[in-house]
Amino acid sequence: MAYDIQPTASHFIDGAYVEDQTGTPIPVICQVSEEQIALVHAATPAIIERALASAKRAQKDWAALTGTERGRILRRAADIIRDRNDDLSVLETNDTGKPLQETLVADATSAADALEYFGGIAGSLTGEHVQLGADFVYTRREPLGVCVGIGAWNYPTQIAAWKAAPALACGNSMVFKPSETTPLCALKVAEILHEAGAPAGIYNVVQGMGDVGHALVTDPRVAKVSLTGSVPTGRKVYAAAADGIRHVTMELGGKSPLVIFDDANLEDAVSGAILANFYSSGQVCSNGTRVFVQSGIKDAFLQRLTERLNDVKMGDPLDETVNFGPLVSQNQMEIVQGFIEKGLSEGARLVAGGERVGTKGYFLQPTVFADVTDDMTIARDEIFGPVLSVLDFDDEEDVLTRANATDFGLAAGVFTQDLTRAHRMAAAFEAGTCYINTYNLAPVEAPFGGSKLSGVGRENSKGAVDHYSEMKSVYVAMTPVEAPF
Ligand code: NAD
Repeated sequence: MAYDIQPTASHFIDGAYVEDQTGTPIPVICQVSEEQIALVHAATPAIIERALASAKRAQKDWAALTGTERGRILRRAADIIRDRNDDLSVLETNDTGKPLQETLVADATSAADALEYFGGIAGSLTGEHVQLGADFVYTRREPLGVCVGIGAWNYPTQIAAWKAAPALACGNSMVFKPSETTPLCALKVAEILHEAGAPAGIYNVVQGMGDVGHALVTDPRVAKVSLTGSVPTGRKVYAAAADGIRHVTMELGGKSPLVIFDDANLEDAVSGAILANFYSSGQVCSNGTRVFVQSGIKDAFLQRLTERLNDVKMGDPLDETVNFGPLVSQNQMEIVQGFIEKGLSEGARLVAGGERVGTKGYFLQPTVFADVTDDMTIARDEIFGPVLSVLDFDDEEDVLTRANATDFGLAAGVFTQDLTRAHRMAAAFEAGTCYINTYNLAPVEAPFGGSKLSGVGRENSKGAVDHYSEMKSVYVAMTPVEAPF
């Protein structure tokens, strides 16, 4: 039977696709042709109510299963995702414009990894026993209840699964709202989870903009909110969640440093800088966009980087030989163009790129600025596009101070052959995720998340379990109760 790649309705609620065309239309626009390729509708209050009610109703029975039973369903979903990787990758490419060459290895596969990993540990989630003389305390690891997930547009399949997997493994249910820019992929995650055996209502997807997100975040039935998005949205969602003292995970933006010392392996450092700036056309939260290059290697670095940019193949992202796609939307393209203009007007030296390619499609050249200084806008603000800034440095202590002189703290990287310096730098970086001699890998086994304004909480790894469950302690008295009177 041919697998239908396109979701068949706007929402997935209580185990089935649901449509309600009275909601605000949300067109999905092809990043190459600029034509509409799909249409979904934002959730109306009635749709939001259905999703939350079904998540609330389903959660207790789901939590009553053993962890092994829940894990089996998640692992089955992982297997289905892997089987359909080709189709799901095409859908991810249609949603985002990222090259198929990337989505085939980075999106559905990452979603499957998360479901497999958390499915694997679901059966070993435990509390503990604390002996207190004759008495004792035992702790129960309990789910939080109904969780809300809200996604950004750059990794729609991955974000949906990174939130679903630990939430469901711990016995929670979820209502997930994808970004209005990329509404399609999360629906497939929901469909596959239910095909794998997840009971109706355990994982629901509703569409919409910020107002739908806000309605979910402030609903009294909701125990936890996990947002992937920008810092301004994070502030709003965190504040709204605070009113109900809800648990939060905030995966927010960044302006991460990548420090390249003279002794670095040049080819690796250039590869690292490319991964840190041009993968997904630069639309990656953890990107190392402030590339500090020590003076002794700077000329060689810039020369090799510009040479390597000759191997960029831009074009239709569905062509598997294309390695550089368009931006996700016209809006995002214009934002990035604005930053490029700022770079020029503030005196940065344009070394490569800087231009839109063609008049149709949201294609921008990979862009490199040199002689960037710490106070320039392109060195301070998150651009979220293919713009790499090279900043000069000589001294390790000085570069560390400058690397940390940002309110963001998502990621940081260092390229050097000096072992002690590498670990010294990693320890001193004010960032949640650090890289030594590589950049931008995010395996499910490792915690991922930000410090400072880049967020709170961690996704992935065993650590995520603590963000989707809470400990109840039960004191058990074995001796007569003593009271003062
Ligand atoms: P965004 O902040 O504009 O939107 C994120 C999501 O929040 C969307 O689904 C949006 O509809 C929703 N939203 C907006 N206002 C809301 C409100 N008041 N209440 C509830 N929900 C609301 O972000 P974006 O443009 O979609 O994504 C890009 C941003 O995401 C970048 O800053 C990037 O760094 C960040 N990001 C972070 C990570 C991470 O793991 N740290 C990963 C990917 C992207």
